[in-house]
Amino acid sequence: MKGDNRMSTLRPKNWVFLIPEDAAATLILYAPLHKIAVRVSPQAGNLLVPILDGRQEDVTDSPQKDELMGFLASNKLLELPKGWAPDQSSAGKGKAKITMSLTNKCNLRCIYCYAKTGMDYTTMTWEVAKDAIDRVILEAVQNGEKKFGITFHGGGEATVELKFLQKCAVYIQEQAHVCDLKPYLGMVTNATLITTPVAVWMGEHFSNVTVSFDGLEEVQDYQRPDSRGKGTFVRVTRGIQNLMEVGIKPSIRATVTDFGVNRMADFVEYLAKEVFPKGGLIHFEPMSLCGRAADNELTTDPQAYMENYLKAKEVGKKVGMEVTCSFDTFGHEKKHFCGANRSTMFCVSPHGLVSACSRVTKPTDDGAELFFYARHNGQSGGFDVDPEAVNKIVAQGNLPENPCVSCFARWNCQGHCPIARYAYHEHREQSCIIIQELLKSAIITELDKNL
Ligand code: SF4
Ligand code: SF4
Repeated sequence: MKGDNRMSTLRPKNWVFLIPEDAAATLILYAPLHKIAVRVSPQAGNLLVPILDGRQEDVTDSPQKDELMGFLASNKLLELPKGWAPDQSSAGKGKAKITMSLTNKCNLRCIYCYAKTGMDYTTMTWEVAKDAIDRVILEAVQNGEKKFGITFHGGGEATVELKFLQKCAVYIQEQAHVCDLKPYLGMVTNATLITTPVAVWMGEHFSNVTVSFDGLEEVQDYQRPDSRGKGTFVRVTRGIQNLMEVGIKPSIRATVTDFGVNRMADFVEYLAKEVFPKGGLIHFEPMSLCGRAADNELTTDPQAYMENYLKAKEVGKKVGMEVTCSFDTFGHEKKHFCGANRSTMFCVSPHGLVSACSRVTKPTDDGAELFFYARHNGQSGGFDVDPEAVNKIVAQGNLPENPCVSCFARWNCQGHCPIARYAYHEHREQSCIIIQELLKSAIITELDKNL
């Protein structure tokens, strides 16, 4: 497998950034990997540009140059901190975790659905499910792990195939017991089918549940109707209540469109008051321009999203709700955005194909031609991995030279969601605006705290 040779050509300007500050005539020196952010004068900025580019000799000797060099040296800013060069050897290797997309069937018809539910009703065969479970357990045993993880998530709603889901869970428990491993089961669900008995059963098996829930009644009912066009707000809240009664506190994942963007803070307040009086977590994401969202020509204005996200976050602090978003990256430096960058995710689709991205679950999905890299082999009872396909995913997953390598958000963002970068171009441009603005505003807030 080819490595990403660009790491060897990095210069300090690729990890120490100079960001112009709008209002004041200052620059912000931002070095996320060194956890440093300070304001510097434009004069200092002029000297720093060639120094950070590795051209110190171009700067005439002066007391100011000595002072800057002293500052850079004492904070080790001219060196990339250890451990931040991407680890090429991890490419394609799993970590005893898989995602199973049991079915493409779904009882909802969300107006922006990336999977365009209602067009494909394939459910995984038992052979595929069993072999996927056996594979992750074997991986855990071979890696000397004590646990393994399976998340049910994908292009449909797993609880639509409840009996099959239960059969999988029983088999997982049995095999985990045989191998002396602890299984961690997770699920992303629309929660509309979580009745009391289903919740009781989930309480016995699941450690982690995320509920897709977009907002107050008018937002949820408009954005996430069922297959007959009826609203789902009441059913979702009942499902969450049922989970809470058996001790599962789900996190909430809300997709934001222009329709609901002004109600984000109200939704946080509602959740704190009515659903999570002891505090909870909500993760907002602006809608991706793909699947049914592209067909319906829906939009999410980046400016409106940002303003309302920040408002919602403020409200969250007051009412005890943690408010997050993958675009809100300050303090979350990372080597890769997700497992799709290095093809380390093993997401088994209902057709028995394996994808590096949990969004790709059908051969007709955006990105299917890139992200599928293995398929079930009914004869051997395993999965045949195509190394060439892995190489292509990894090549696509590398941080793009343009515009990311010199972007001040690069260590926080890492090019953001790989499939958005590959397949949803318009979405990507919007994403960069939101990521850079949110990061800059968080850096300024942090600097102002220390004034
Ligand atoms: S590529 Fe994007 S959608 Fe796919 S798993 Fe990664 S973050 Fe999720
Ligand atoms: S995706 Fe956009 S915000 Fe992220 S590193 Fe690249 S240019 Fe910067």
